[in-house]
Amino acid sequence: MDLELNLQPLALQGIEQKRPLVIAGPCSAETEEQVMNTAKQLADNGIKIFRAGVWKPRTKPGGFEGKGIEALPWMQRVKAETGMLTATEVATPEHVEAALNAGIDILWIGARTSANPFSVQAIADALKGVDVPVLIKNPVNPDIELWTGALLRINNAGITRLGAIHRGFSSVDSKLYRNPPMWHLPIELKRRFPALPVLTDPSHMGGRRDLIAPISQQAMDLGFDGLMIESHCNPDCAWSDAKQQVLPEVLDFILDRLVIRENVEATESINQLRKQIDELDNNLMDLLTKRMRVSREIAAYKKLHNMTVVQTTRYSEILDKRGAQGALCGMNPDFVKKVYEAIHSESVRQQIEIMNK
Ligand code: PEP
Ligand code: MN
Repeated sequence: MDLELNLQPLALQGIEQKRPLVIAGPCSAETEEQVMNTAKQLADNGIKIFRAGVWKPRTKPGGFEGKGIEALPWMQRVKAETGMLTATEVATPEHVEAALNAGIDILWIGARTSANPFSVQAIADALKGVDVPVLIKNPVNPDIELWTGALLRINNAGITRLGAIHRGFSSVDSKLYRNPPMWHLPIELKRRFPALPVLTDPSHMGGRRDLIAPISQQAMDLGFDGLMIESHCNPDCAWSDAKQQVLPEVLDFILDRLVIRENVEATESINQLRKQIDELDNNLMDLLTKRMRVSREIAAYKKLHNMTVVQTTRYSEILDKRGAQGALCGMNPDFVKKVYEAIHSESVRQQIEIMNK
């Protein structure tokens, strides 16, 4: 599959091209007063792009599903009276058409929609021949191919001002986060498409006000391009996502304290350290190769003596011993366990190959 995206810079009228690109506004457009009140406060604090959900995909029926087209004139008022650009979520071709007719400046595809290729394709078809910036949230499930596929579908429709929004992923056992970040996935997306702007949405990731600042700082430290943050004039009374929304003045406080480190060229000393890392990685590969070779010899022995491939006591012994050793060396025992699980699984694969020869 062709994994190229045809991208243009995410040029937005009147918006300076600097990190972080900030999009803020309430989860949902609830009433004209709530939208205008929030928007004016945000604009007074220098926010340039206003978000609000006009159509809300809710996990279960019965929640507030958005005001729909009734809310579009409120977005137009925001633009006319504050000069901010407006952004909203679209999930169907009808939403696309209504949003474009209302002059919404930026469209985004939500996490429940980007998980469905039929829906994404329907939106892509509705966008053919249109020049509008589109941001694609990661699908709810941690599947980078699905996220990539959604970007490709929208890009194939001719949308070149494209961006991604990382909002975290559903997880069965998350304690701290509403949607754990799994940072390796947006990092992989950046590796695949270095020119693709990736924004972080700490609101849906954390699900809690107090996590917005630390997640935003982490996103900036990892070099991501922008932030989409939910802000409401009366967060406690919000009709959706109340716990994760902050007052415009709190958002201002959070943004003010962010430390933005510039991505300067690697210096000589960092290059020296990287050489050391390369050298160590070479040694690691060498050791792994040797370990696999011994493992294959063991397989030959097991075959000869009619033994099973996996001896669980031996496997547990390795995991426990190395986990404890890792902890002594300042590593997280869970990390060491994961490394050994991966090594063991490759080792088993190679042994099975030998056993069946
Ligand atoms: C939202 O941005 O309000 C929203 C519904 O987010 P997500 O699609 O990330 O759940
Ligand atoms: Mn929300």
